[in-house]
Order: sequence, then structure tokens, then C-alpha cells
Amino acid sequence: MTQLQTKTANSPEVSSQWLDVSVPIYAGMVHFPDNPAIEIAKITDVESGDICTISRLALGSHTGTHIDAPMHFLPGGTGTEQVPLDHLIGPARVIEIKDPDLVRAEELRVHDLGVGERLLFKTSNSERCWKTSQFVPDFVSIAEDAASYLAGLNTLAVGIDYLSAGSPETHRTLLGAGVVIVEGLNLTGISQGRYELLCLPLKILGGDGALARVLLKVSNGAHGSKASAEGNKKASKRQGGG
Ligand SMILES: [Zn+2]
Repeated sequence: MTQLQTKTANSPEVSSQWLDVSVPIYAGMVHFPDNPAIEIAKITDVESGDICTISRLALGSHTGTHIDAPMHFLPGGTGTEQVPLDHLIGPARVIEIKDPDLVRAEELRVHDLGVGERLLFKTSNSERCWKTSQFVPDFVSIAEDAASYLAGLNTLAVGIDYLSAGSPETHRTLLGAGVVIVEGLNLTGISQGRYELLCLPLKILGGDGALARVLLKVSNGAHGSKASAEGNKKASKRQGGG
């Protein structure tokens, strides 16, 4: 890792009032197991006497911090360029998940979720998974009952702090209901509360996923929650896709 990567790999960087909850992109970084490896190579370099420096990037569409488009899991689904940006810009809540295995509907109900919210789930993933460039298979993801619950609330966007929202059924339920899925967030150091969200995915035509820069700014309405850990029963997980 370069000095820059070391600096930003494990904690969000503060830029004025905005908190960067995106992960850095670099050659050899972690990726979902069946997704392409990340390669970044200079094809010209001013340090070698070339007139300018240009790199070639080879990476999967679900690399690092990114959104999933409906077509990622839904036949006939739309691509990244049609994902409504107003789902990804505006008031949002970071919710700290206590359950060590899954984001479950039972725990979400404690938080009095409203209709049409933008929700980012801070799980143990943030502290646990981004410290290593090895893929962590037992990451916390969104249970299918939680996906149904969020879909029923017409949630605008759901964010998770590792490389997959959960099972194929979780993806299909969320994407089918128009919920934009944001994956690969690093919420280390981010407290539960209310924020302004700015998530701008690349405009990839017909893209099943798009890398995104995601920023949070503390909202004046920021507050904690008295939510307690509940429902820690183990459940088998089947992850999908990245
Ligand atoms: Zn994805």
C-alpha cells in the first residue's frame, strides 16, 4: 500500500464537513470472490519521460464502494444510468446494527423507520472487514425478512458496509421495489444518527453496477438511539453477487 492508501483504507477522511465513507480503489484490493481482480497499471508515465501519465484500469463493476442497478439481479431490469439520483442524495440515517450475523427486520423495527428513508447500516463489518485485503466471508448482510420490510416502506436507498447486501433473494426484493442498494461502505468512526447523504455512481450505460463516491455530512437533527441488541440467533447465509 502507498501512504495514501494506508491513510484512507481503514477510516473515513474528513474533508471540510463531509465524511468520506467510500473505500479507496487500488490494485490488489479486496473483491467479492467470483468478481474480477482489480488491476491498475500505468501505460505512460511522466516519471519515465512520457508526456503525461495515464493508467489502465481493469476491475469489476461491483468493486469497492458501489451501487447495484436493478439489472444486476432482475431480468429486464434497468442499468446504472437510470438509477434515480434523488434516492442517493438527501437526508439519511446511519443505524448501528447489533446483530453479529444479519440485519433483521426484528432489529430494524426498534428504529421506527419511516416511509421513503435512506438508510445505511453500520454493522461489525466496518471495523472487522476492511482491515484486511483478504475477503471476509462471514460478513453481516441484510436478511430476507429485513429486505421485505424495507421494500414495504418504499425505502429509497439501503447501504451496507461490505461487498454484498445479502442473498440473491435479498437483492431481488430490494431492487424489485426500487430500493437502490449501496454496497462497500466503510462506516468506521461514523456514529448512529442523521446525515446528509451524497452518493454519486458513475454513469455507466447499461451498467449492472457502478463505483460511487459516497459522502456524509452530519445533520443538525443528529441523535443517538436507545436500540438494544436483539435476535442474535445464528442463521445460515447465502450471499449473492457483490
Ligand atoms: Zn454489487
